[in-house]
Amino acid sequence: MTTLIKNISQALTLQSAFIKDGRNLDAIDLSVIQDASLLFDEQKIIWIGKKSELPAKMKIEKVIDLEGRVLTPEIVDSHTHLVFAGDRSCEYVSRLNGVSYQDIYKEGGGINLTVKSTTAISSDQLYNDAKERIERISSFGVGTIEIKSGYGLSLLEEKKITLVIDKLKKHYENHIQIFNTFCAAHAIPPGKTSTQYLNEVVWPLLEEFGNLKIIDAVDIFFEKDYFNHAETDELLIRAKKFSLLGKIHADEFNDNKGAILACKHQALSCDHLLETREDGFKALANSKTVATLLPGTSLFLGKKFSRARELLDLGGKVAIASDYNPGSCHFDNLIFLAALSAPQYKMNIAELWAAITLNASHALGKLHQGALVVGMKPRFSVFDTDHFEMITYSWGKNLAIPWKQLI
Ligand SMILES: [Zn+2]
Repeated sequence: MTTLIKNISQALTLQSAFIKDGRNLDAIDLSVIQDASLLFDEQKIIWIGKKSELPAKMKIEKVIDLEGRVLTPEIVDSHTHLVFAGDRSCEYVSRLNGVSYQDIYKEGGGINLTVKSTTAISSDQLYNDAKERIERISSFGVGTIEIKSGYGLSLLEEKKITLVIDKLKKHYENHIQIFNTFCAAHAIPPGKTSTQYLNEVVWPLLEEFGNLKIIDAVDIFFEKDYFNHAETDELLIRAKKFSLLGKIHADEFNDNKGAILACKHQALSCDHLLETREDGFKALANSKTVATLLPGTSLFLGKKFSRARELLDLGGKVAIASDYNPGSCHFDNLIFLAALSAPQYKMNIAELWAAITLNASHALGKLHQGALVVGMKPRFSVFDTDHFEMITYSWGKNLAIPWKQLI
């Protein structure tokens, strides 16, 4: 069925940003069309332009009146850990009161506390809790959400979490796109070596899920005292057997050359990049791998920010994601987060929008969305304002209009 969206006050098409592959962007690359119309069917955008230029012969079967609102490419959150149980609010307070992470960890806090809570509840409860979180994220205008496993840290529990994500993906398939990332290599459980854990849990599950085709990518926490270079390398090699690309939690605590390793494997993205040096940024700028920044973690933990401007100036393809999780960033409003961090990163407005639409889509291997361009997938976000500047200017005010409310 062909549907016309009419009365679009402004359409942020990102057409020019799309042509430039999301790199070296100037404000003009937002390619804003005033007083626009857009025609689409179930598969693709058929036409977009000024409403006065809509060809008369177009077949139109349905009309959606946007009543002077703003239309943008769909907002994409490309890094979350939203399947978990319990909370770590006490840790947040302890940190404010000067307690070190090492002491929090020694007292039973940190990721092991989330693992304990997550493994204590049923998959139905996990599923219902995750649904609530997804509905809330969706209410901010986000239509594609990546979810990682990784709070089980045993064969049965990691399996449980990945199957919960798969169930969520199927439940929302006509509405919200869920991207299922296998991240069992998130941490090493107490009492095991990384080799034992990989052999007993990660490799067998990768084999099983790879054959069943229920995961979309793999991910690993590549840091000192977690998984090393050789293990990260091996995961990405093993994933290719199932035509799965990788993502890497890279260079958060140390410059481990995670960015360079991600580029070597043409990974979908490498994420965090707080400590990456110029060699890593150069590798990223010359690769297809998306550099995903997670400013919420910097804000939540009171840490420094990635040197985004340096990476952007080299020609890096940069996304911003929430990293929504119970320990290091209990925050789920991506637009607010991007607006809050763009001045820190010294990003221009096109870089900001590309970071949460076009480049975030590419961080999930979704190359046919993220811009309002003929032939691209019809995935949009709508905001209740007549000028787009309001969306990132109105910190904490949710202007998103749920798509299903309009159709
Ligand atoms: Zn993460």
